Amino acid sequence: MSKQLGFLHNSEKCVGCRGCEMACKNEYQTDATPQWRKVFQLNEDAFSLPTRMFFSMACNHCAHPECLRVCPVEAYTKRDDGIVIHDPNRCIGCRLCTMACPYDRPQFNPAKKKVEKCNLCYQRIDKGEKPACVAACIPGALELVEINDSLDQKTGVLKTLPGLPSPKITTPSIRFIGPKQGKQIRRD
Ligand code: SF4
Ligand code: SF4
Repeated sequence: MSKQLGFLHNSEKCVGCRGCEMACKNEYQTDATPQWRKVFQLNEDAFSLPTRMFFSMACNHCAHPECLRVCPVEAYTKRDDGIVIHDPNRCIGCRLCTMACPYDRPQFNPAKKKVEKCNLCYQRIDKGEKPACVAACIPGALELVEINDSLDQKTGVLKTLPGLPSPKITTPSIRFIGPKQGKQIRRD
């Protein structure tokens, strides 16, 4: 693998508009219920001051993807740029990947009896375009980034947020900028 692409989400910029969710649905014309990308509210109890803030998550294109490891029909592949692709034509809908993913990101579609997930808009990336969710995020809270040491050394860049599974399980390719402690106000 020559590099690892992933997402950087900034909770200070995110307004919880769900535009990224809608952009994903619009790009792939997916059914209403399986949500490849989802906006979650941060767990207020994990922070020293009450806050109402958000983070957005799709597949994390993990360095060590459990979905790929457990799939019995090799429906998952990992590209040289780190993107983890799921091929619905190979999928037999056994749901082993949905049980193995710590982030609950492969989504079972009961109508199609197959699993679906974010493929990081690899077709757009191959054309030099941003993923649909990133392009739609008006405040610039969601970015496509290369996961590497220089990103991890930047001030404020976190590998996880309170309440998320340990990144040691799959080494997810997502980074976070969390709320700034001491500046929080309740926004609802
Ligand atoms: S589009 Fe951007 S601001 Fe809106 S919910 Fe998604 S990440 Fe947050
Ligand atoms: S987030 Fe889940 S589905 Fe995506 S690569 Fe990691 S283990 Fe697989």
